Amino acid sequence: MQRYSRQREAILSLLRTHFDHPTAEALYEELHKTHPNISLGTVYRNLSLLSEAGVITRLATHEKDHFDGNTAPHAHFFCDGCGSIKDLDGSFVREPLDGDGQLTGYEPRTVLVSIHGLCPECLNKMKEEL
Ligand SMILES: [Zn+2]
Ligand SMILES: [Zn+2]
Repeated sequence: MQRYSRQREAILSLLRTHFDHPTAEALYEELHKTHPNISLGTVYRNLSLLSEAGVITRLATHEKDHFDGNTAPHAHFFCDGCGSIKDLDGSFVREPLDGDGQLTGYEPRTVLVSIHGLCPECLNKMKEEL
């Protein structure tokens, strides 16, 4: 059990250095360099446990699950072209939570606001193709 919690710590601290919402596979590839004994299954399992516990957030897309170590309320922009996910500082996300009387007596744990569209790179690519 000790070994597994140390691996969980390694997974969590690596995720917290990322702001690009990596997949389990991407985290595994990076972790494998410093933790040769870690398996992709272990990474998956720990990411699931951590997101169920509310320590991290799982962002499900139609392709793959992405993970976010930043649990402060914020919105995400999902690019439908390349699949990149960008953080948006959403004061509009916090407003209904901070505002008077809106959610009295409730304690928000996870806030998911998703905006879908195209990122600047994908928009440029589209213009070039026209
Ligand atoms: Zn894109
Ligand atoms: Zn995020």
